[in-house]
Amino acid sequence: MTVVELDERLAALRGAAAETAGELRAHASALDADPYGMKPHLDVAAFDLIRRCTTPERFGDPLRIGRFGYAAGSSLDTLVWTLELAYGDAGMVLAAPGPSLPGILVDQLGDEAQQEYFHRAVAGGPVWTFFAVTEPDRGSDAGAMESALQRETPELYRLHGTKKYIGNGARGAIGVVFARTGSGPLSIRAALVEAAAPGFHGQALETVGLRGAALGEIRLTGVPVPAERLLARHLPPTRRGLWGAVRVFNTVRPQVAALAVGTGLACADLVRTERPNAPGLEAVAARLEACRHLVYEAGAALDRDRDDGRLSSAAKIAAVAAAREAGRWAVRSLGPAALVEHPLLEKWTRDICAFEFMEGTSDIQRLHLARSLVRGRGQGGGRP
Ligand SMILES: Cc1cc2nc3c(=O)[nH]c(=O)nc-3n(C[C@H](O)[C@H](O)[C@H](O)COP(=O)(O)OP(=O)(O)OC[C@H]3O[C@@H](n4cnc5c(N)ncnc54)[C@H](O)[C@@H]3O)c2cc1C
Repeated sequence: MTVVELDERLAALRGAAAETAGELRAHASALDADPYGMKPHLDVAAFDLIRRCTTPERFGDPLRIGRFGYAAGSSLDTLVWTLELAYGDAGMVLAAPGPSLPGILVDQLGDEAQQEYFHRAVAGGPVWTFFAVTEPDRGSDAGAMESALQRETPELYRLHGTKKYIGNGARGAIGVVFARTGSGPLSIRAALVEAAAPGFHGQALETVGLRGAALGEIRLTGVPVPAERLLARHLPPTRRGLWGAVRVFNTVRPQVAALAVGTGLACADLVRTERPNAPGLEAVAARLEACRHLVYEAGAALDRDRDDGRLSSAAKIAAVAAAREAGRWAVRSLGPAALVEHPLLEKWTRDICAFEFMEGTSDIQRLHLARSLVRGRGQGGGRP
């Protein structure tokens, strides 16, 4: 494995993101208290950066810094800004309106008309989006999902089922829902769905960590889905539903690792400020910095091969463990009253617990790594 050194272009992106991170932190507690009261937060500079870095060039206005451009699509670019912004606040990063996960899927699996439909809807923003895979009791084993796309006519399907723990589940206006048209693994498809459709009911879930993600439950009772809204119609069956989901998980998993590293570094730096000689500080910070490099390397690997999720899995396992250690160590280092005296530390320790579950738990990542070693090639895979 090589160490990724940020070149001038990436260093400029890192600097720009770091500049806006402080503003995110100023909004973090208010968002945590009320994840649905988004109005006071909409003008933060980081939301503009995220929107411009995640919207494809033909639908948006890509970020430019001096002579450098940052069109959507590079994993390494995304990880560089995600980590810096998470140092400000990961909850705020996840609360940003924009294309988000479904945007990645639509760009990979959507035809021209579907991409246009989705990105135009999001561009009318602020619009939040959802990516609905998980079902009650079927989280890690997403391939066992039961939500169904029933064909009513050749041109119309009806969507039935329940999705749970979905980011923006009750806040999103448009997104993708995964469901099966039959019983086999290739029958799982991704459908573009609007929350305003009849039969769609999103309900907020009360959560403890990463409340900015606004997790919700989505109940689908006969939601009409025109056949033209099924993604990947132009691709062979093996390149449709779960294949697309796996590619999105590969792409997003190191982003969760970046969120964890940023949050861990925030904990470490709080101790550095409050108790500069705290035992263990340098070791905790060094472990997080090592994870930063692993995250960057995972991004560079994905930019070379979208189907190779091995480093994504490794980065997520390492980063979540390092962030968990950093949070616990910070609380121990600052003493028994730390969680009361430092409300953001209290929030970060809650947020860190949630990273474990996003885009597959550490157990599932270990299974992916073991399988790819046995197969002898880079099939990091996703949750399914
Ligand atoms: C902040 C946050 C945001 C999320 N956003 C989304 C979203 O936008 N869209 C979406 O679809 N989902 C989302 N999720 C859900 C997330 O993907 C699931 O929580 C995750 O897949 C785990 O599923 P589960 O919670 O049902 O846990 P389970 O699958 O029930 O796992 C429980 C425990 O069992 C272990 N386990 C399970 N299977 C195995 C196995 N085969 N071998 C060994 N151990 C195993 C796990 O490691 C875990 O420790 C989100 C979750 C969180 C916390």
